[in-house]
Amino acid sequence: MKIAGFEKTVLRDWEGRNACKVLISGCTFKCPYCNFKFIEKDSGDDIDPDAIFDYIKENKDFLDAAVISGGEPTDNADLYKFLKELKKLGLKIKLDTNGNNPNNLDDLIGAGMVDCVCLNIMAPLSSERYSKSAGTRVDVDNIRKSIEIIFDSGIENEFKTVITSDLTPEDIYSIAKDIKNAKSYIIQQFNPKNVSNTEYAQMKLCSNSELIKMANAAKKFVKNVKIRGV
Ligand code: SF4
Repeated sequence: MKIAGFEKTVLRDWEGRNACKVLISGCTFKCPYCNFKFIEKDSGDDIDPDAIFDYIKENKDFLDAAVISGGEPTDNADLYKFLKELKKLGLKIKLDTNGNNPNNLDDLIGAGMVDCVCLNIMAPLSSERYSKSAGTRVDVDNIRKSIEIIFDSGIENEFKTVITSDLTPEDIYSIAKDIKNAKSYIIQQFNPKNVSNTEYAQMKLCSNSELIKMANAAKKFVKNVKIRGV
């Protein structure tokens, strides 16, 4: 597992917590809207985990959490070991995931390594739509299983959809129907900065009124829906 980025403090990734953020390189999805620079496995910087542990120890009076993101953290078998070290330092862990590795997710939750999961849900749960949004063939049963694991575990959770102009309020309605037990659902404005796909880098952003329509569609099933700008 390669750590491509470390942010010492993040303010909005986990409301109510003083968190740092760890970015793991590599992701098997190829979402055309992705603005993470290191989706190739083992690309980017190689930050020494010990430097992160030292920072956490030095700031233990302030920090109470870590957000583990990427990339796709659950693609890495050695994630468990890293989370265990963070847990020993007394941190709560939020895991950002695309939900494609339900077994790994289940193991991490079962082992008490994760306190909150944010599942990035890209499209309505049909193989064709999902695969188009992820830029690769996706078995949507994996995503469904991850959703079930999150709900069955009772863990704190958040779902998020990045809104590009490919998505309609009907799509958001369909997604929300499948995550109706979600504690919160974020309608995230697309950020074209650093996107390498030229079509998406130049894509017109949805207007505020379109985002509100999407949020209202989601509210038919999920009580706590938030719109987040870039
Ligand atoms: S799942 Fe996330 S990190 Fe992976 S390609 Fe899609 S947006 Fe990028």
